[in-house]
Amino acid sequence: MPELPEVETVVRLIRPGLVGREITSSSVSWARTLGGVGKRRFDRAVVGARVRGVRRRGKYIVFELERAGTEAGALVGHLRMSGRMHVEAADWDPGAHGRVRLDLDDGRAFHFIDVRKFGRLVWAANADSIVGNLGPEPLSEDFTLPGFVRDLHERRRQLKPLLLDQEFVAGIGNIYADESLFQARLHPLRRSDRLSRGEAARLFEAIRAILREAIEREGSSFDTFYRTPTGQPGSYQHQFRVYGRDGRPCPRCERRIAKIVVGQRGTHLCTRCQPAPRPRRRAILRAP
Ligand SMILES: [Zn+2]
Repeated sequence: MPELPEVETVVRLIRPGLVGREITSSSVSWARTLGGVGKRRFDRAVVGARVRGVRRRGKYIVFELERAGTEAGALVGHLRMSGRMHVEAADWDPGAHGRVRLDLDDGRAFHFIDVRKFGRLVWAANADSIVGNLGPEPLSEDFTLPGFVRDLHERRRQLKPLLLDQEFVAGIGNIYADESLFQARLHPLRRSDRLSRGEAARLFEAIRAILREAIEREGSSFDTFYRTPTGQPGSYQHQFRVYGRDGRPCPRCERRIAKIVVGQRGTHLCTRCQPAPRPRRRAILRAP
């Protein structure tokens, strides 16, 4: 599933073709993509609207709309498993899996293509009704080490599921959680409230460094689904150090990478570089 770097790549590549354009008509071949908004209501909301901006929030893509210079709600897209977005010439063929097409006033068209059909492109009067509860953007100034330490200590959860919680921090999924924990040398089952400040700082830096590098490489394409809007695969999958590498040597210590299940998600780690949490000494053992 596309995570922050993949979605950021999509936004950067489709934005220039969309900002300032007016949507002149739409066609929808899979109604569920609209997330419960009927086609008539969808058309009333988007046809004739102009795209004011395209931005990423977590794993969502927000298309801000306006009419006559006034805000007119937003389309909020989520690629889920296999969604792709393209802005192409009018005669471009999206193939059998094109779900939504928006014609633009410059003769080009935006396409939402989705093999697995879990992706969504939903109109909302206010994008915050969908993205308002997301946690901080890990590459923004809102994401600070003191805030991160405070949130880790307040949550008292295992690190892996916590990193996947979009209300804790936005945009991280299975790949970048595993890679960040490896880089920070922290076991996925460590409890967030028991990290030292130094450990929290390692995780904070790891998350940011890995996401930045993955964006530079246009994300990861390890299956047939994710491609950039120019049709190219990303290349960060060649940098994976633990994700999908179970049974192969750890790049740091050469022990075999292990795969465990945490919260129903396959989780990759080096059990030497990322030592398991020690059970807490029971109070009774402490000297009075
Ligand atoms: Zn190792």
